[in-house]
Formats: sequence, C-alpha cells, structure tokens
Amino acid sequence: MDTPPFSELGLPEELLAAVESLGFERPSPIQALSIPVALTGSDMLGLSQTGSGKTAAFALPVLAKINLQTYAPQALMVCPTRELAVQVCEEVHRLGAKMRGLRAVPVYGGAPMDRQLRALRDGAHIVVGTPGRLLDHVRRGSFDTSQIAHVVLDEADRMLDLGFREEMEEMLAALPKERQTLFFSATMSPGVKRLIEHFGRDPKTVKVEQKAMTVSTIDQSCIEVRERSKVEVISRLLDMEAPKLAIIFCNTKRAVDECTEALLARGYSADRLHGDITQQMRERVLKRFRDGIIEVLVATDVAARGLDVEDIEAVFNYDLPQDPEDYVHRIGRTGRAGRSGRAVSFVFGREIHRLEMIERYTRHPIRRERVPSQEQVEG
Ligand code: ADP
Ligand code: MG
Repeated sequence: MDTPPFSELGLPEELLAAVESLGFERPSPIQALSIPVALTGSDMLGLSQTGSGKTAAFALPVLAKINLQTYAPQALMVCPTRELAVQVCEEVHRLGAKMRGLRAVPVYGGAPMDRQLRALRDGAHIVVGTPGRLLDHVRRGSFDTSQIAHVVLDEADRMLDLGFREEMEEMLAALPKERQTLFFSATMSPGVKRLIEHFGRDPKTVKVEQKAMTVSTIDQSCIEVRERSKVEVISRLLDMEAPKLAIIFCNTKRAVDECTEALLARGYSADRLHGDITQQMRERVLKRFRDGIIEVLVATDVAARGLDVEDIEAVFNYDLPQDPEDYVHRIGRTGRAGRSGRAVSFVFGREIHRLEMIERYTRHPIRRERVPSQEQVEG
C-alpha cells in the first residue's frame, strides 16, 4: 500500500521532525489509517500484525494531544509485559524527543515501587505500564488519574491471553469517563470484542491486512529433524548461516533450558528468556541481546511476544508451535519493518500436519530443506 507522507496526517511539526530524524520515510499502513482517526479524538480499534508499526500509530496522535504545561498524567498506555512497557516508553521518548519537558514514565511490577511513586508524583505526562502494577497504583491513590484523557490498550489480545481481564476492567472503570480509548491488537478475538463493547464509545475500526506481505519478506523453510538431533542441527545452522542475532523458540521452559545449556556447552554466546527468569535478569538478558553481546536468544512464546529487537536475522522453531498464530508472531521477530529475515522450523513425523495448517493459515508455502551436511557447514 502506498501511504501518504507523514506531513499529511495532521501531526504537529515537532512530531514530524522527530519522525524524520528517526528515519521513518513513510507511515506504515496502520499508521496512515489510524493517526487521522485517533487525532479526531474518537475511540478506535487498530488491528494489524506484529511489526507493522502499531506503537507509533497510537503514540503519535496521543503525543499530539499532550499539554506539556499540565503536570499530571494525561495519557495511559497499557502493555501486556514489562519488556513491552519499557519498549513502548522508549518509543514514546524517541517520538516525543522534540517536545521540551515531556515526561513519560514506565510503571511495572518487579521494579522498585518507590522510584515509580516518585516519578508519578513528579508530574509525568504519560504513564506506560503493565495492568497489575498500574492497578496497584490506582488503588493506592499514588497515581493521579483525574487528568487522564487518552488510554491505549496495546496488544489487547495478548493481555487477555495472559489473564489480565479483571485488572484491566477494574482499572478502566476507575479512570475518568470523558476520555479517548484506543485499542490495538494483532488479532480480533471474542475477548477483545467484549472489551471494546464494554469500554469503547462508538469506536472506529481500522484494520490492515498485511499478513502475506510482511511474511513474504521472510524466507521460510523447514527441516525434518528428530528430537535427539536437534542440538546438532541447530549448531550446524548457526555455523553455516552465522546470523548476527538469532532467536530460537521452544515450546516449554524446560526445552529452553536444555537448548541453552547445550548451546553454551558448545561454545555459543547464548542466553534464555522464559517465565521463571526474574524480571531483573530478563532485562539484563534483553539488553545484552540488543547490544549484540549475546548472539542467540532461546525463548518461549510468552517471554518473546512483542519483542522488538532490530537486526534479528534468523528465527528458529526448535519446536514447532502448537498454534499457527504463534508461528506468525515468532517469525515476525525477524524481517522487521521491511527488512529481510530467515525462519527455519524443525518438524518431525506427524508435526508435518501442523506445518501444513500453518501454511494454510499464512497462505504462504514453507520450503522443505535438508539438514546441512558437515561439509556444507565447513564450506
Ligand atoms: P508492532 O507494535 O505493530 O509490532 P512496532 O511499533 O514495534 O510494531 O514497530 C516495529 C518496528 O518498525 C520498530 O522498530 C519501529 O521503530 C519501526 N517503524 C515503525 N514505524 C515505521 C515507519 N513508518 N517507517 C520505518 N520504520 C518504522
Ligand atoms: Mg506493538
């Protein structure tokens, strides 16, 4: 889709300047469609797949409405995980870089409460956080919600999957009724629909079907591998392709642990992310991965959902995901913003049916490959 330039979307100068200095040449389709709608103040639901630029699609119109002279939170952005809250907050800072005195603070569980309290009291304009901790602050009264005029639920589908429905509902119910609510999601589900019916006021829906297009920038293949040969094959692939950064997805925490241990034993710079890893550790791992100190990240779906790390050149499905949607999310970690990437899935036996289901779901064929031989690896 050819989109109009950012300058035609109704955004103020300082935001256009920031977008330009970030090197965004044109709005992505979801941005081109959502920004004018959100700027009217209307509630809306934005649907588009991972990696399509949803953050700027809501952050830009919200930033456009912030009054920097008012030292009270005016916008609230709710994200499913701490990593995402941190990421969204960083993007808000980047997009708002030309707005003098703008303060956006992240608020999430597992981080010191007193620092967050201080940041909230010191007059933040935008608060970005996870449902549990936000609700904590709302209940304690440590977060002045009286001026909140814009609420964003980012990855609404994911928040419901993670069981945040009650927290979200209690929090939304505690916010001023006169407000704009923006719902963003990769998928539409009955839960998302209910949430919108309950909390949206005549919301406009903006939907971008971009699946095939984004997926087509990723080279997808599969290899038949027995369970006991997975470590050997993944090592060969890593050696042969030498991706700058790679993510390996496993279906269980245990598989993540075993795969990481095996790679470390073979001398790879690898680390892991899964639900049992402490918040502090997860942040550290992520930073080291972003900085390229760790080259291979082994993770479960939940831990890696929504992760936006540039330059991930390869995604490996060490275990084929159960759900085709997880497949799309996993491979969406590479090929970000139009770059190319590679996704290789291990399959064996009856899993081939699941692979075919994925192909039907994405409407995209997955090439069958052979295990690279040792000679190929040594080239
Ligand atoms: P989503 O939330 O839909 O998964 P993100 O908002 O995380 O997607 O954006 C994915 C990546 O694309 C980010 O690195 C972001 O900086 C980049 N990006 C967003 N909008 C644009 C644009 N208009 N042009 C180029 N890159 C963009
Ligand atoms: Mg996102």
